[in-house]
Amino acid sequence: MVFFISKLDDTELIPYTLVQCPHCKQFGNLNRHDFLKGFGPAKQSTKAIRGKRLYCSNRGNKRGCGRTFALLLLNQIYNSMVNTLLVSMFLAAFLGQCLLSKAGVWKQLGFTPDPEWAYRILKRWEHSLPHIREKLSSVHPPPNEGTGPLHQTWLHLISVFERGDPIAQFQLKFQTSIFSN
Ligand SMILES: [Zn+2]
Repeated sequence: MVFFISKLDDTELIPYTLVQCPHCKQFGNLNRHDFLKGFGPAKQSTKAIRGKRLYCSNRGNKRGCGRTFALLLLNQIYNSMVNTLLVSMFLAAFLGQCLLSKAGVWKQLGFTPDPEWAYRILKRWEHSLPHIREKLSSVHPPPNEGTGPLHQTWLHLISVFERGDPIAQFQLKFQTSIFSN
């Protein structure tokens, strides 16, 4: 169970403590819990903050279910240490929609994806196409261009989110992970 949030300050977090627990559907028991942390794909020595966990309290006079759920920052990929910008830039480069050459993109990112990583991202993208298209089509029809479903869905995504990191914006708008797997 995951939701997306644009920043981890009280103005964003406090409203989330007032919503229904996604597990037990009760109100009034959610507390802010620990930060979600992890290493990025680049060689970082410190863990980056990825989000915050909320806890449905069953302590004291609280009658929650004792479970937690995650509020991930919009630029985080669920179940992965890569961030959305990296995936967006990789897909932009790979699918040929970026002005920079692939080598230029890798240089700017400070890392060259190993073939294994690239393959995994493309597989996840491919597997998630129906999920992504369904969300996008609810706000905007698909553009009449592109070669093949991988490319068409990418064009659809960037036609809805024209500026900035389209994957981060997708996650924030639809409150769902870009990848369905
Ligand atoms: Zn609960």
